[in-house]
Amino acid sequence: MIHKNKTIHEGEKVVQERRMDYECDVCQKTFSKKNNLTVHKKTVHEGRRDYKCDVCHKTFTLNQSLKIHHKSCAKCQKSY
Ligand SMILES: [Zn+2]
Ligand SMILES: [Zn+2]
Repeated sequence: MIHKNKTIHEGEKVVQERRMDYECDVCQKTFSKKNNLTVHKKTVHEGRRDYKCDVCHKTFTLNQSLKIHHKSCAKCQKSY
């Protein structure tokens, strides 16, 4: 019983302390993680597309997007 209550309390604490500490100096959008702000600025304000598919030459803003592409792209799957 005690353990259960403790878990709930800690869960609330995490939500309350979740701050948005990183603000974009261009559009004032805030982010909880510095990395999210860096990616935001790169992709939204600089239009960077650093991740490229070697097979079909599509470009992506995020490594994650390229990974998803590899899984869904029929052309890519043939070459592996
Ligand atoms: Zn911004
Ligand atoms: Zn591809």
